[in-house]
Amino acid sequence: MKTDILIIGAGPAGIFTALELIKIGNRKKITLVEKGKPIEKRHCPKSETRKCVDCKPNCHITSGFAGAGAFSDGKLSLSFEVGGDLPSLLGDFFTQELIDYTDSIYLSFGADEHVEGRGKEEEIKDIRKRAIKAGLKLVDCPIRHLGTEKAQDLYFSIQQFLGQNGVEMLFECQCSDLIIKDGVCTGALIEEKAGAKTTQITAEHIVIATGRGGAAWLERQCAIHDIHHKSGTVDIGVRVEVRSEIIEHINEVLYESKLIGYPKPFKNKVRTFCQNPGGFVSQENYDDLSVVNGHSYKNLKSDNTNLAILCSHNFTEPFNQPIAFAKRIGELTNMLGGGRIMVQRYGDVLDGKRTWQDELSKSNIKPSLPDAVAGDITFAMPYRTMTNIINFIEAVDLVVPGFASAETLLYSPELKFYSNKVKMTPDLKTSVAGLYCLGDSSGWTRGLMMASSMGVLMGRKLSEI
Ligand SMILES: Cc1cc2nc3c(=O)[nH]c(=O)nc-3n(C[C@H](O)[C@H](O)[C@H](O)COP(=O)(O)OP(=O)(O)OC[C@H]3O[C@@H](n4cnc5c(N)ncnc54)[C@H](O)[C@@H]3O)c2cc1C
Repeated sequence: MKTDILIIGAGPAGIFTALELIKIGNRKKITLVEKGKPIEKRHCPKSETRKCVDCKPNCHITSGFAGAGAFSDGKLSLSFEVGGDLPSLLGDFFTQELIDYTDSIYLSFGADEHVEGRGKEEEIKDIRKRAIKAGLKLVDCPIRHLGTEKAQDLYFSIQQFLGQNGVEMLFECQCSDLIIKDGVCTGALIEEKAGAKTTQITAEHIVIATGRGGAAWLERQCAIHDIHHKSGTVDIGVRVEVRSEIIEHINEVLYESKLIGYPKPFKNKVRTFCQNPGGFVSQENYDDLSVVNGHSYKNLKSDNTNLAILCSHNFTEPFNQPIAFAKRIGELTNMLGGGRIMVQRYGDVLDGKRTWQDELSKSNIKPSLPDAVAGDITFAMPYRTMTNIINFIEAVDLVVPGFASAETLLYSPELKFYSNKVKMTPDLKTSVAGLYCLGDSSGWTRGLMMASSMGVLMGRKLSEI
């Protein structure tokens, strides 16, 4: 098969590349290859089974049209300071411009006009004052909240728009290898029907946008084909859940608290991430690994708020396998939890005891992930990470009194194993001619908006070539 532009992965990064190419009036043939299903056929059976059934060959939450974005909470972070490292490649001003433009595309496909975290400057000042006293930085980041169910409608409209504008979309097709010779990429091998048939697609430009789920695959491709990259950061942490009463002031003023600290003694970066007022803790699967996440619906609400606390780990020589490191912690936690997500009360962590299932019902808070298994997350968590988490929770308690309560729930493993950072120019060119890398798989983004914005930039660059 032959095409002009081959995009591998139909997550926000890949689809915004195609969208921008169409908007610019591109006449080249665009082929989008996606290992998951079209958006209308993505269905997580958990709503019926009440527990994760580990869908094969791919998890519906992370694969299929719109990638990890479709079933996500759809919180678009509208500040260049949040969602990735593009500012260090493109500059703060240009990154913000790209985000504003990309936001206007989301609006044109029906995103909610309302933006959280704007117009409450006095209350924000007060929260910042408390953060300063606690030794934490509060990042201002307005948020447009699509909501899980609205995000699916919005991405469905985009899928239809791409189809109507001639983009060839090949679903349930997985890229197994890149064709690279003498420093030039000329195509990719695509497996259909779970490997029953392999097709070679040649193209002028090959764009990898395989997301976080494709990070390990891309790491192998970088090693095999000598695509220049450097080891990325891994974030290891917990998903924290409290009753919404505890954190409702922050929920109302900011919707999401972006707090960053460097707690003693290690002074590693620790931050809050992905806050879901009235939301639900969720499980997602990457190959054989079950990790915890959280999301919230626009209409269906729980009594709780969940958010991640993440510690960034950067390794030095000779170690260069951060993803494998994080996965081992995840596997160990899964092993201890019998393959399920583990949950422990914060008070039990401090008391050095496991949480028993019947103890969970003694609290005000009811876990919003019912199939999480009570246990002891500290068995699998490195000392450094656990110390960071505890010290950070104590600091957040000064901003949000009650956050460090004994009944606060900590779910594990919460891992963000970003891809190795692919070395690239501001034109998004990699060290291999004809090959580009985008979004979360490139290691440069870690959120919907920045991944989408990088896709927009890719579309513009490809239209210039
Ligand atoms: C539950 C959940 C909630 C989230 N909530 C938010 C949020 O509220 N706000 C936010 O900013 N971010 C959120 N995120 C993160 C956000 O979804 C990602 O940052 C974003 O989707 C990254 O976009 P991407 O296009 O780079 O990759 P992805 O969205 O991961 O898409 C990559 C696509 O590539 C496909 N693929 C992978 N490997 C191959 C292969 N070899 N061949 C073919 N196809 C392949 C995958 O199936 C996938 O569809 C959330 C993520 C999850 C999982």
